[in-house]
Amino acid sequence: MNIVLLGPPNVGKGTYATQLSERLEIPHISTGDIIREVIASGSEQGERLKQITASGQLVPDEETYSLLKARLQQPDCANGYILDGFPRNVAQAEMLERDHIAINHVLNFVARDKVIMSRMEGRLTCSNPECHAIYHEKNAPPKQKEICDKCGSAVAKRAEDTPEVMKERLRIYHEATAPLIEYYTKKELLVEIDANGGYDQIGKIIGESLNAIYGDE
Ligand SMILES: [Zn+2]
Repeated sequence: MNIVLLGPPNVGKGTYATQLSERLEIPHISTGDIIREVIASGSEQGERLKQITASGQLVPDEETYSLLKARLQQPDCANGYILDGFPRNVAQAEMLERDHIAINHVLNFVARDKVIMSRMEGRLTCSNPECHAIYHEKNAPPKQKEICDKCGSAVAKRAEDTPEVMKERLRIYHEATAPLIEYYTKKELLVEIDANGGYDQIGKIIGESLNAIYGDE
């Protein structure tokens, strides 16, 4: 069972990917997390990727794909996975197809830019690169102020989450994914998730979509 999550940055995909991953017992593979790990390693590649992402640009398709492919060869991916952040354009979708990696469902998270910007402003991320837990100042704060519920590390706003960078990322996202949405719609794989509502509401919508796809459990 291979699932793709589509949606702009900060739409809430990461939070729901965790829920999906538990429900389906397959790992959540985020190319954003993989790239942040490479950056955190301080390697030459990491330094280069750091410069690209800091300016709101995207890592080149082939480089992202080769990092992703290495991750998909891990044994925990044997029964499937949830892809988050890849593919983000038709060229990347064609790379999966070229390697005969079948996608069963594409969940497309849709929210207005205004809603996304306001979520971004309150977003808090766990500083532990092994954890990556995400919180929100108002909507989903950690139980203890500035401390991660899962691992006890400090949570903080990410330096790259500025309104300017965010606007640029949204612009790039819309430009690149419109054809991708069309591509998966034609293949009849697309399920649209209305992500304008609060966290609880989206959780419920995803639950209902999953029940429709996989049957009530
Ligand atoms: Zn944590």
